[in-house]
Amino acid sequence: MKSSRWTAKLLLETKSKLFERYGPQECPLRHESPFQLLVAVILSAQCTDKKVNTVTPILFERYPDFASLAEADSVVVEKDLRPLGLFRAKTASVIGSAREIASRFQGEVPKTLEELVSLPGVGRKTANVILGNAFGKPGFPVDTHVIRLLNRIGVVDTKTPEKIEKVVNENLPPEHWTDFSHLLITHGRQCCKASKPDCANCDLRCAARNTNC
Ligand code: SF4
Repeated sequence: MKSSRWTAKLLLETKSKLFERYGPQECPLRHESPFQLLVAVILSAQCTDKKVNTVTPILFERYPDFASLAEADSVVVEKDLRPLGLFRAKTASVIGSAREIASRFQGEVPKTLEELVSLPGVGRKTANVILGNAFGKPGFPVDTHVIRLLNRIGVVDTKTPEKIEKVVNENLPPEHWTDFSHLLITHGRQCCKASKPDCANCDLRCAARNTNC
């Protein structure tokens, strides 16, 4: 069994190597407010950020805040969201969240994980993205890249997002969480791809010391 000290060291080393390689990270979903980020993250489920960025400018022009989105006609919104897939569920989530925020949170995106996950279509991953990127509060979003990489690197041996989030929360200082998640996602997209990791061009060199690759 790996010690907590070993895990903490590996996490920090991994973060600093990825930072050396990719530098500071930004949320790739275009947004200018917590409202826009919340909507964009809900829309990004099983869809690329690039595609979401093509749809949100039109959507935000039509619905500039939660009050207008809460009143939106779902048939019209579904039409706008159709290119993203899962458009009916996504429409229900963004309009449902807008209504909840308008009625329960005075039109402001809530700032705690517990309140965020009480909104329709918002799970821990989305909530952590909002906390870290909209409010500068510690949050470690776990997506498919994060799951794959932390298993390959040998930090965890589980595919359960909540367990992975807990390991990182317990072993990496909070100020690193948001950046670390961005860096893992960038590395997963550019180098440590699902089907064919480019280990020859990766400084993490984890392929040699574990069998999860
Ligand atoms: S060494 Fe290979 S498996 Fe490990 S993180 Fe790098 S690309 Fe991925």
